[in-house]
Amino acid sequence: MATDILDTVAVAPRIRQTQLLIDGEWRDAVSGKTFETVNPATEEVIANVAEGDAADIDLAVKAARNAFESGPWSKMDARDRGQLIYRLADLVEKNIEELAALESLDNGKPIRDSLAADLPLVIDCLRYYAGWSDKIEGTTIPIRGNHFCYTRREPLGVAGQIIPWNFPLLMVAWKWAPALTAGCTIVMKPAEQTPLSCLRMAELAMEAGIPPGVINVIPGYGPTAGASLVKHPDVDKIAFTGEDATAKIIMADAAATLKRLTFELGGKSPNIVFADSDLDAAVAGAEFGLFFNQGQCCCAGSRLFVEESVHKEFVAKLVERAASRKLGDPLNPETTQGPQVDHAQMEKILSYIQKGNAAGAHCVTGGTRFGDKGYFVEPTIFDYVTDDMPIATDEIFGPVLSILPFKSIDEVVNRANNTHFGLAAAIWTSDVKKAHHLANRIKAGTVWVNCYDVFDAAAPFGGFKQSGIGRELGAAGLANYTELKTVTMSLD
Ligand code: ADP
Repeated sequence: MATDILDTVAVAPRIRQTQLLIDGEWRDAVSGKTFETVNPATEEVIANVAEGDAADIDLAVKAARNAFESGPWSKMDARDRGQLIYRLADLVEKNIEELAALESLDNGKPIRDSLAADLPLVIDCLRYYAGWSDKIEGTTIPIRGNHFCYTRREPLGVAGQIIPWNFPLLMVAWKWAPALTAGCTIVMKPAEQTPLSCLRMAELAMEAGIPPGVINVIPGYGPTAGASLVKHPDVDKIAFTGEDATAKIIMADAAATLKRLTFELGGKSPNIVFADSDLDAAVAGAEFGLFFNQGQCCCAGSRLFVEESVHKEFVAKLVERAASRKLGDPLNPETTQGPQVDHAQMEKILSYIQKGNAAGAHCVTGGTRFGDKGYFVEPTIFDYVTDDMPIATDEIFGPVLSILPFKSIDEVVNRANNTHFGLAAAIWTSDVKKAHHLANRIKAGTVWVNCYDVFDAAAPFGGFKQSGIGRELGAAGLANYTELKTVTMSLD
């Protein structure tokens, strides 16, 4: 943690942009409407942001189509495209404090996390994909007969990108970087709760020299702006991160135009602690794996399976850690837990806490709202949770952890896999054979062993089952922004 950076953070970030970005121009919505974005720590309005809907989406898609088909983006050498993405990464780095503060203001995440996690991952992701720009290669294929056969990976076209509010800027990077590198153009709809950092990033993209129309940003609501983007006939692909219920609506809406879809959705990820693990490391990993980002992570380790023989000792240590989290102003560098993103999320979490109590789980710490201003919820742990309780089956997306004791390997594998989700899992053990055995048997897109939430732009991320379709990051994430073309030429 770079405390010297934290000491100098600008605590009052300036709001520079609240309009829509279409074809390189900042504009009001066609309807003239705006919506409020709220500081979740104070419940005060930060800014009124232009509210895009179908008419604005249509203008943005036209701009993106034009930039793709006839604009400078499609004509630019791949390596030069990469240079512009590197330049954007440099500008993000130069403005890291401002962006981190803006992120914390709009989302409520502690500034220490924005600075030490979100922003460095954003920069890394941009640079990782920038390096790919001149390495997107095809193959030559020895088919029968006197032919020359080869493949090309071509950009998919206009990508519609719809992102959530839990990692606003990181989701921008995960979506923009591979799309830009592949040569696609973009219409992005940020989440209505957190539009500000995306708009600032779009400003930096223009400063970096990414041509007008390549990136268009339309803040607005899901059922209006989001659905128009999904249904638009001139959009080639939708990349969506959010709830599984929303993904089902998007899939149905996209059917008429058979759009390519990639989804990164929710989870109820098992975090499995064996008695032979380094218990203190596992306790720290369990805390981080669930409470990081106020529990608002799609891969949160929300089902904590603990081997029975160490269960009591483990719970005592974990409760102590959870209870010592520092809740408060996200812009204070000492804060380790901020508010939930909005009132609706806070209410949803509190209702799940009630369900946990009603089902007979033991609440061993937390269990209530923290304070009466801001959407804070105490770090909450339920012990003796059973597999059928709502707090064990449903994604809560908040600081509520369920502990489920277990006895044997086969039992815990079956229970861990007994869910329609399959995003992530973790295993804590000092037995390397056991770790491999479980890593193979757990149905999840990512398995961490003796660690949690280790992300890298080079490592693919996504879900099995109803946790997603396709992968983001790594080479797999790039492939999803390309079409594969086979060219066969007669040599007779
Ligand atoms: P959450 O409940 O966590 O906000 P959502 O899945 O509802 O998660 O939201 C993620 C993103 O999807 C947001 O940008 C939201 O506006 C958008 N969205 C919500 N509903 C729709 C929809 N019907 N079509 C397209 N996008 C939507």
